[in-house]
Amino acid sequence: NVRVRFAPSPTGPLHIGGVRTALFNYLFAKKHNGTFVLRIEDTDQNRYVEGAEQYIIDALNWCGIPYDEGLGKNETYGPYRQSERKPLYKKYAEQLIASGNAYYAFDTAEDLDFHRKNHENQGKTFIYNWHNRLKLSNSLSLSAEETQAKLDAGEDYVIRFKSPHDETLHLTDIIRGDMKIDTNVLDDKVLFKSDGMPTYHLANIVDDHLMKISHVIRGEEWLPSLALHYQLYTAFGWEAPEFAHLPLILKPTGKGKLSKRDGDKMGFPVFPLQWTDPKTNDTSRGYKEDGYFAEAMINFLAFLGWNPGTEQEIFTIEELVNAFDLERVNKSGARFDPDKIKWFNHHYMQDQYDEDLAELFKPIVDKNLSVIQSDSEKSHSNATSLTAQNDIDVNYIALVVGLIKERATFVSDFWDLSHFFFTAPTAYDEKASKKAFKDDTADLMSQLKSIILPIDEFTVTALEKDIKGWITKNDIAFGKIMMPLRLALVGALQGPDVFEIMYMIGKAETVKRIENIIK
Ligand code: GLU
Repeated sequence: NVRVRFAPSPTGPLHIGGVRTALFNYLFAKKHNGTFVLRIEDTDQNRYVEGAEQYIIDALNWCGIPYDEGLGKNETYGPYRQSERKPLYKKYAEQLIASGNAYYAFDTAEDLDFHRKNHENQGKTFIYNWHNRLKLSNSLSLSAEETQAKLDAGEDYVIRFKSPHDETLHLTDIIRGDMKIDTNVLDDKVLFKSDGMPTYHLANIVDDHLMKISHVIRGEEWLPSLALHYQLYTAFGWEAPEFAHLPLILKPTGKGKLSKRDGDKMGFPVFPLQWTDPKTNDTSRGYKEDGYFAEAMINFLAFLGWNPGTEQEIFTIEELVNAFDLERVNKSGARFDPDKIKWFNHHYMQDQYDEDLAELFKPIVDKNLSVIQSDSEKSHSNATSLTAQNDIDVNYIALVVGLIKERATFVSDFWDLSHFFFTAPTAYDEKASKKAFKDDTADLMSQLKSIILPIDEFTVTALEKDIKGWITKNDIAFGKIMMPLRLALVGALQGPDVFEIMYMIGKAETVKRIENIIK
């Protein structure tokens, strides 16, 4: 029975690395008909950030990888916020003390600082472990009475794990295989503090056990904690879940770990959704607001550390579920290439229905047309948009989208690629004019007008047949007609097929634009 969890700490917005971890958990759960649990690890109240928890939920939903169980959903093993589970952890810490696997430590911050400095002066690093613990103030170096007296007096304490001396631990990771660790290098990690809060390690192990987690899939930065986690399972007498530590995500340069700050520095989002910091009011970009499709981002993230072992690159989420396998996740870091998401976005764009894209594009069209309208009213010019009212039929927009989307990466690219379907050019590109406009152009364009006017059935086929027929019959060079015609319609020498454009804007508008350019 596969049960996995995503266990973020609400210390800020979920960055792309967190989404990748959530995604791999999601894919693994779905692949094995398992359950994907969301647990909020908010034991460190000092680092709590307002709004971060809601952001995490919103981001998972937008990405299309919702959790099955967790906050507000199928709360079988709840509560799912560790701060609400606070009363639960103490008894587990005490259980470890009773079994000799943990102890009370009373060292003050000043004491510890002193020892650290003292070691530093000798060129050594201070580790709170088998080597030092008896020289420090804790229940292993004090008598039972002394310990109890300190507790009764309300002295601050922490509960530390008693890491064994001279043992070799055997750890297993699905991605990294078997590892050996010499326990002498481990320190006695703090599990519990006298403010009544567990640390990450204790809360995480207790909750994974109580929530019946079968596989822990998380970032590589947690690999150093694996030895302690294994020991905690043993100390409790619980069966450990299987572990898989996902490779680091590297900066676009390939050097160093991608950080939350890299996005703003290098000009790409590192967050799924836009985020405004509640303290500084600074806003960071999000993939959603930047015009990316969630599916494209997810497809991209799936390839950060995993590959299907085939040539296929474009996957729907269902296809990812089917193809996903932890055994195919790499050990080595995955370079984050922001241009590659654009490539995925472009591909996803091509698979969308034109009607759906048109719904997204329509507000942009309406806005641009109303700006043009009000500008032309102000300047009393007669620049006109195709329709007097700025409310273009969405079906027309869908047809336009169908003609231009192969050249677009984002919906926000559409207007530049298609404005001439909605409004006549008000200026002609200078270089293009020089190239397209010759001495005989005006004359040829008025001849062309007289070819176009009688065409009753104003279709792409009819236009193409009549115009090309006329050109061939009169032995005119194609460019002499096609270039100025395109310039007249578009304002530049770009855009889709001219016959398509003429058909779309209609006969009257076509003729008007030809007249405009020879005026
Ligand atoms: N709360 C940890 C984090 O923020 C969870 C680590 C884990 O998955 O064990 O990443």
